[in-house]
Amino acid sequence: MSETSAVPTASLRARAEIDLGALRANVRALRARAEGAGVMAVVKSDGYGHGAVPCARAALAAGAAWLGTATAEEALALRAAGLPGRILCWLWVPGGPWRQAIEADIDVSLSGTWALREVTAAAREAGRVARVQLKADTGLGRNGCQPGENWAALVTAALRAEAEGLVRVTGLWSHFACADEPGHPSVAAQLGRFREMVAYAEDQGVRPEVRHIANSPATLTLSDSHFDLVRTGIALYGISPSPELGTPADLGLRPVMTLSASLALVKHVPGGHGVSYGHHYVTPGPTTLGLVPVGYADGIPRHASGTGPVLVDGKWRTVAGRVAMDQFVVDLGGDEPPAGAQAVLFGPGDRGEPTAEDWAKASGTIAYEIVTRIGTRVPRVYVNGQEPG
Ligand SMILES: *Cc1c(COP(=O)(O)O)cnc(C)c1O
Repeated sequence: MSETSAVPTASLRARAEIDLGALRANVRALRARAEGAGVMAVVKSDGYGHGAVPCARAALAAGAAWLGTATAEEALALRAAGLPGRILCWLWVPGGPWRQAIEADIDVSLSGTWALREVTAAAREAGRVARVQLKADTGLGRNGCQPGENWAALVTAALRAEAEGLVRVTGLWSHFACADEPGHPSVAAQLGRFREMVAYAEDQGVRPEVRHIANSPATLTLSDSHFDLVRTGIALYGISPSPELGTPADLGLRPVMTLSASLALVKHVPGGHGVSYGHHYVTPGPTTLGLVPVGYADGIPRHASGTGPVLVDGKWRTVAGRVAMDQFVVDLGGDEPPAGAQAVLFGPGDRGEPTAEDWAKASGTIAYEIVTRIGTRVPRVYVNGQEPG
């Protein structure tokens, strides 16, 4: 009926601006930190909420060597969008799309012999060699193969499948539990265990292209952990893995996402006026209220009720009362910005706005969760998609 596309109208309400120039600069900073190891750009969960495909393209343009996802579906979606090169995905359940992954040239991670059985069957059906990486649990206690007889059994079975021409073992890898706490004794213990498990596999005859264990915090703080490849997620998006490691600027990173909304209403109210569900905020005197048209359905944490910071008209304001599904209110203290004025929830922080880390503190979580949970109702608006001429 109308030729107006949905996105520009939707972005009037709220938008997550994604600065791909910042993302490329972050990749370059991480490549320098990695000191010769390749950088895998981790774009799982829609690029931590930033949009997997545009972020993956920008990361490759800036020299990332690999892409990484959690699920096979995420990896297949990158291929379907035309992304070239190596992609590793690591979170499988029985019955997963092994054959599609093999046919799409995706490297798959195996943490147990059940997965090796499924991938070899799929390789036989497809008539192609599956590229597999063996994941060791060096102490995280989550996914990965336990050391000892389990690892020996997985390595033996993988070598047998390799000899039959069904798989090629391209990688040996693991994941840290506490890399964001430099000096935590588990970090050195996991590194030692990783070296032993790699040495065992190599003694048995595995010839991996890449050995890798470092996530963003290990990439930034522990050069001993870099091996052949580092898997960076949060740092790619310009967010510090933990405030203890420093601010993004301290780490040479720049936040990529700026979340803002347009005030839907500004109005005068008398003192003693209850605000939002439950009346957990009551105006201390006559004031103005601004209506910010985003809520928990958009990923604004309900735990930030009464605490979340917002920049409006040059001043920090705080969520007044509860965050609702689609909206929350700020007390503007008598100021009268017009409806449509910008409310910046978070961004890089250098124009006075709060950061994702400020929202994490305000809602008792980590900045990873703040950016990743921003919902699909908020359009992503990409800027600096091209290298400046
Ligand atoms: C998410 C994830 C990463 C990236 O972690 P960051 O801390 O965001 O850098 C790396 N490896 C694995 C296995 C992951 O699940």
